[in-house]
Amino acid sequence: MPTDNHAPPQISRRTLLQYSAIASVGASPLAPRLAVAYEPSKHADIVIDCHAHLHHHSQNEWEQRDRNLIEVADRLGIDQLCCSILTPQRPATPEGFRQCNAWVADAIDRFPNRILGYCYVNPGHQAEALDEIRRCVEDRGLIGVKLYNEHRCTDPIVFPIIELAIELRVPILHHAGHMHFVPPEQPLISDGGHLAELSQRYPEAMLICAHVCGGGDWEWTIKALRHAPSVMLDLSGSVIDDGVVEMAVEVLGVDRLLFGCDMSMTAGIGRIRAAELDEEAKARILGKNMQTLLQRRAT
Ligand SMILES: [Zn+2]
Repeated sequence: MPTDNHAPPQISRRTLLQYSAIASVGASPLAPRLAVAYEPSKHADIVIDCHAHLHHHSQNEWEQRDRNLIEVADRLGIDQLCCSILTPQRPATPEGFRQCNAWVADAIDRFPNRILGYCYVNPGHQAEALDEIRRCVEDRGLIGVKLYNEHRCTDPIVFPIIELAIELRVPILHHAGHMHFVPPEQPLISDGGHLAELSQRYPEAMLICAHVCGGGDWEWTIKALRHAPSVMLDLSGSVIDDGVVEMAVEVLGVDRLLFGCDMSMTAGIGRIRAAELDEEAKARILGKNMQTLLQRRAT
């Protein structure tokens, strides 16, 4: 039986938790097979990972690794994963990001209703990026835009991307981090302060500040977003410090927080389960808040 005392009942009822201790993407091939088949979510409390990645097809065993991700999601009670694929080399070229997004669209077909897709673009290739976003959202059913570190989010070159996402009413998951130095490999990384500034210019944009637990000084980031009420905070990342979720709830409120893993699967789900919050607050963070964002989409 599960030994996790923090497990909310809606997850433990699925009999999946017995596998959670061994469930990680890397360990998956050695893990026992699921005793119960995955049931598409009919329960009220959907669990959506707002930040996941599929594997670039230049990687060895990308197909198996994508399957492993779904198996781990099964074991941890994650219903849907919002995925992007990034180019191994950045800045991404138009050919590079188009290929990544075509693979995401294929994965949505392979794993219907499990994989949701973000369209990744490099805003520096503005015309191609705008075409790609429109095509991915309108024709391929992708649910949002993923931006990385090619340009700081307050650079005017990014603005047309934000304006298109507003028009299509889809969220933008923006890579972010705040270190107390400029990371040499990411000189144009955005942080919570830049996203807050962008949200003042575009308060109607659905901005998600990525992986607070994988982006340096998390306390700084939470405080930087305090007066930016339209920016959501993705709680993913591999850092397992105590108190992140509780501080984010206190400063930002439950409704601005999104569960995510960014491939640190047990850390991602564990920090929400272990947080000192009531079950309704956990359910909102685990899926309802993301569902609300996705439902704003233009039809
Ligand atoms: Zn990132």
